[in-house]
Amino acid sequence: NVETLSDLSIAKNAKMQPIRKISDELGIPEDAVEQYGHYKAKIDPTKIAVKTNLGKVVLVTAISPTAAGEGKSTVTVGLADAMKKIGQSVVVALREPSLGPVMGVKGGATGGGFAQVLPMEEINLHFNGDLHAITTANNALAAIIDNHIHQGNELQIDPRRIIWKRVLDMNDRALRHITIGLGGPTQGIPREDGFDITVASEIMAILCLAKDLSDLKERLAQIVIGYTYAKEPVTVRALGVEGALTLLLKEALKPNLVQTIEGTPALIHGGPFANIAHGCNSIIATKTAMNLADVVVTEAGFGADLGAEKFMHIKSRQGDLSPDAVVIVATIRALKMQGGKQKDLLKEEDVTALLKGTNNLEKHIDTIRAFGIEPVVALNKFFTDTTAELNALLSWCEERSIAIALTEVWEKGGAGGVELAKLVLNELEKPSNFAPLYSVSDTIEQKVRTIVQQVYGGKDVVFTDAAKKQIDQITAYGWDALPICMAKTQYSLSDQPKLLGRPTDFTITVREVIPKLGAGFLVCLTGDIMTMPGLPKKPAALNMDVSEDGSAIGLF
Ligand code: ADP
Repeated sequence: NVETLSDLSIAKNAKMQPIRKISDELGIPEDAVEQYGHYKAKIDPTKIAVKTNLGKVVLVTAISPTAAGEGKSTVTVGLADAMKKIGQSVVVALREPSLGPVMGVKGGATGGGFAQVLPMEEINLHFNGDLHAITTANNALAAIIDNHIHQGNELQIDPRRIIWKRVLDMNDRALRHITIGLGGPTQGIPREDGFDITVASEIMAILCLAKDLSDLKERLAQIVIGYTYAKEPVTVRALGVEGALTLLLKEALKPNLVQTIEGTPALIHGGPFANIAHGCNSIIATKTAMNLADVVVTEAGFGADLGAEKFMHIKSRQGDLSPDAVVIVATIRALKMQGGKQKDLLKEEDVTALLKGTNNLEKHIDTIRAFGIEPVVALNKFFTDTTAELNALLSWCEERSIAIALTEVWEKGGAGGVELAKLVLNELEKPSNFAPLYSVSDTIEQKVRTIVQQVYGGKDVVFTDAAKKQIDQITAYGWDALPICMAKTQYSLSDQPKLLGRPTDFTITVREVIPKLGAGFLVCLTGDIMTMPGLPKKPAALNMDVSEDGSAIGLF
């Protein structure tokens, strides 16, 4: 009975092929494959031949999600398996999981049911050490900054104006605001500090956006860590540690090759969250995949208002690529919630709430169309969905000439995604009309306003006095011609998590604008969004254990 199986038990029973078989089938040269055990490898992207005819990119995004996620990773993996099943050469490119959500609320990031990447346990826990390397590079820089101040502060860094924070790959609210350097003259200079989660680190963004090792080093050098007493910016270059940071990251810069349950190759690399960061896997992994296969299926985090918008405006621009097709994952349960159904009653049939909630899907469809792409809707089927509900959504789409496929990859693997794959292939045959919604040369206010009005469907944006001051400063330094990375709740199109469906007439409040010159974007913090999440009342960690033979228990 598939319904009662956990992701972990399905993953454990799946038979994996040696990773060399997967890399051989892709035509990856032997000297580009660095094996991490039997089933994982790092791929040296500099040893992959560059194709003239690059693979096409299918971006998987979603409606505004429930707390559990809408099965975007599941559908991404299942769609790739389905593509393979119908004879396409395909690679799936995903983000790597963070231990914050793994131990906290959401779960892993390896897909679900029969649409998973393997080895599930290892990918979800410490996968090939990339998050460790990023955390270490970030904190090495923090240590260098505090040591510089302690050793005489030659650069005259103002300890009250340091914007570089320490990071940890965990949800730990107690570290959001801390005081460091207490204890007397030999313990450093006391100052206020704080931790972010690793996936929000600018170094994570840089690793995901860098073209190669030298671009990585140049971007690290450009990071602004804070300001001097005279309010001049201080960069990593001034501190002289871009070389050391690059050294710490050189292995992490190589994409990780694994496989799906059905043996489809998967490149998993980089993992910024889409609410507090730019939400896409690395450009290096996506480009490597485009050189290895005809079709690349990739995902961007949360709803189309977050990950997809950032894919279009940040990743596409910096990586000189663009999506050739877009899939929007929708579920009956999330649409019912968007239509006002209470969270604990989502299993009840309620066609009225479902139809009311379709306005959320409609907004995300409109957004993708605004970028010049005709989306395909993947209806990710759950066992609790009733026939009346499924039919109601299928007809709703058909009446509006929106391509939709009932997708059963969670239950059936690739076989459950063949219809979706065919609809996507159909879109891939059409010429792309992709165009971004704003130009980087627009003012910061204009760029944010465009996102708020055209992507969120809001009325306007307001900037707090503090944010206005930061914008003036950023503009005075000449850093304003960068794309925007919005930090916003994933639950609502607005910055109010409880405002569901398709709200209109709302304003978004930007309370802080932070320059990330190495990443090459400006972060705008809206509403109450935090760059260090907290754990819920009953963290997922409470269900976890390890059996006597050393295998995981309770990892979803
Ligand atoms: P997202 O990428 O949107 O965050 P995931 O693909 O990680 O979502 O899925 C979140 C959880 O939901 C996983 O545990 C997965 O097994 C489960 N899930 C996804 N789709 C289905 C489905 N159709 N039926 C049952 N469970 C599902």
